Amino acid sequence: MSVELQELLANNKQWAADTEAREPGFFSKLLKQQTPQYLWIGCADSRVPANDLVNLLPGELFVHRNVANVVVHSDLNCLSVMQFAVDALKVRHIIVVGHSGCGGVKAALLDTRTGLADNWLRHVQDVRNHHLDWLMSLPAQQRVDALCELNVLEQVRNACQTTIVQDAWARGQEVIVHGWVYGLHNGLLEDLKLTAGAADEVAPAFALALASIKQRYA
Ligand SMILES: [Zn+2]
Repeated sequence: MSVELQELLANNKQWAADTEAREPGFFSKLLKQQTPQYLWIGCADSRVPANDLVNLLPGELFVHRNVANVVVHSDLNCLSVMQFAVDALKVRHIIVVGHSGCGGVKAALLDTRTGLADNWLRHVQDVRNHHLDWLMSLPAQQRVDALCELNVLEQVRNACQTTIVQDAWARGQEVIVHGWVYGLHNGLLEDLKLTAGAADEVAPAFALALASIKQRYA
């Protein structure tokens, strides 16, 4: 095995030993159940490691990541994760997390050809096209981060419109959907204040969050 991979396995042994030493019985407890309160839908970017950013242990955060944190109504992968999280694990919060300087968002903004992912990033281009006039009114260096934030809003709205979340709300199950953005430059998460816990909250919350983004970049 290559030296780099041996290092990973050695790191893992150390981590398991440290974790068990800090909290004896940690792994045997996890074996019996996981009861996360949160579903994190984030970007696959290696600089945005979900558990680390919010300092949560294994068992505390259910995670789905893809390029540019997109929630598409036909993506069975994301929908399956959401359904298990909401229906089986009963998570109370779904958090869509974008990040500044996202490579996927940048490629979508600038029409950069990347390969197969171009098709995936068409969803982000839809967001770009929808807000094109406003984006183009910004200085060029602000457009990527602005689109990262707009993309979070659109993906939060998509998450709210899934049958999974709609059905949970219809039966009175508490599920609150949030939109956050992570700053690569300072390591901080920011709440974009698009928070919805009922079907009729989505549109007004979206309008307020969008106005807030536009104000911030004005
Ligand atoms: Zn990204």
